[in-house]
Amino acid sequence: MTDFLNQPIGAAPGQPGDRTAFSFETITRLPGSPDGKGRGGTRYGRTGIIHTPHGDIRTPAFVPVATQAAMKAVLPETMRQLGAQCLLSNAFHLFERPGEDVLDAAGGLGRFMNWSGPTFTDSGGFQVLSLGSGFKKTLAMDVTGMKSDDVIAEGKERLAFVDEDGVTFKSPLNGDRHRFSAEISMGIQHKIGADIMFAFDELTTLMNTRGYQEQSVERTYRWAQRCVAEHERLTAERLGKPYQALYGVVQGANYEDLRRHAAEQIASLDFDGVGIGGALEKRIIGDICAWICDAMPENRPRHVLGIASVDDIFACVENGGDTFDCVAPARCGRNGAIFTRHGRYNVKRAEFKTDFGPLEDGCECYTCRNYSKAYVDHLLRAREFNGFTLATIHNEYFFIKLLDDIRASIDGGYFEEFRDESLAHFYGA
Ligand SMILES: [Zn+2]
Repeated sequence: MTDFLNQPIGAAPGQPGDRTAFSFETITRLPGSPDGKGRGGTRYGRTGIIHTPHGDIRTPAFVPVATQAAMKAVLPETMRQLGAQCLLSNAFHLFERPGEDVLDAAGGLGRFMNWSGPTFTDSGGFQVLSLGSGFKKTLAMDVTGMKSDDVIAEGKERLAFVDEDGVTFKSPLNGDRHRFSAEISMGIQHKIGADIMFAFDELTTLMNTRGYQEQSVERTYRWAQRCVAEHERLTAERLGKPYQALYGVVQGANYEDLRRHAAEQIASLDFDGVGIGGALEKRIIGDICAWICDAMPENRPRHVLGIASVDDIFACVENGGDTFDCVAPARCGRNGAIFTRHGRYNVKRAEFKTDFGPLEDGCECYTCRNYSKAYVDHLLRAREFNGFTLATIHNEYFFIKLLDDIRASIDGGYFEEFRDESLAHFYGA
């Protein structure tokens, strides 16, 4: 097996990273559908391969979130064994602790955490901007009737302020005042050294007014231009490193015209891929992906940031999403919520106290092959770390395998059947 950790592709002493080490190759495109979404008689959904300096990602792919350069309670070796192809860490958390200079000195994120495969970092924008309102900016929020540019969650202090140049915020870790901007985010992400990085964007909420969303999309475009310029400068300056790909992020909330406009702006810049982000309503998540793909060149991989559920994954894959990160499997697992083909249940329910069967019948993950519901229930109640480990292994495996199966269904020509059957099983329809 190639030692990507010590010999990434396209890195040579004294040379800038070779950009050709990063590319996207389409394998199979979904055939057309009656709704006419897509291009040239086919939908945007596809299988493919993202080639990176640390190896390939077969897409569509699930991207587990290793927030602080770690999956909580699960080693990278285990993630590899259960089929993870790549991991995503958060630039903001690594900037706060241990600091990007430590990762740079370690030889980058992969070497720091002993993960030989491809890695992603987000820009820090999500964490920084979330401090602004105190709300969790998840994909689906209930904001019926709420519209304001200055909404703050009850009992929360506003910790972030946006201006033309960037964002000033107070660290939730130690109260220090910090500043993030396009250039600062690029500097941090270059030192962290992930294969795929994201441009620094402004994240709005669905509560922001239309006027504010318009201003924000334009500001994000100006920041995107600055990110591209700084990324080129750092790539040329930091010799001997593998090339790091940069994805531009498309915002625009729920508005079709704004999303299309933002997608054209991002497509016009020299990005390697695109991030589909921001606040949006679940019911139009597939449409938003298709609007963005309309503007995007076919050879740029598309990452959907912070996906929340199984039906969203199917809608996004069908409309062109290639990779998907999600914190739910690990976060839910630690609370006892277990994902199965037949939906989600909580293993801490009383009826499982003496159930010695696996978390999911027929599941081939390490946890299900070796441990019982009753044992996992006991560990989680006792707050034993092994409980977090076993629940996380099963849930991460569930999502990784779901994307593996979706990929096989597109290549095999039975995506619709697989989608309908999976959704019927999962949601009990
Ligand atoms: Zn399992």
